[in-house]
Amino acid sequence: MTSMDIPVRQATTETWMREAACKGLSHLFFPAPAERPQARERREAMAKMVCEECAVQSTCQDFARRNHEYGFWGGESEDERHAAGFRLIAPIGVRAKSA
Ligand code: SF4
Repeated sequence: MTSMDIPVRQATTETWMREAACKGLSHLFFPAPAERPQARERREAMAKMVCEECAVQSTCQDFARRNHEYGFWGGESEDERHAAGFRLIAPIGVRAKSA
């Protein structure tokens, strides 16, 4: 592997984030430590509802895909982004096996 193969998170000054419907709702978009699968399902279902009403969803989804973000972004979970071909920078568990 060369350094060219390693995805790098980009710093951002993106103005679209000012319009995010998820401001103040980080607890829905990022897991608590040791979150159980059922809790993740419930949390991500609530996050998806917020994203469905967000004015910047497609921009957000594109940003998260390009930057290999963790958490729930643009109506997509990490698993959904991974399935769409946008892997995490350091996948673990099932995602690491299929990366
Ligand atoms: S699409 Fe979802 S994660 Fe992205 S800014 Fe809007 S509410 Fe937040």
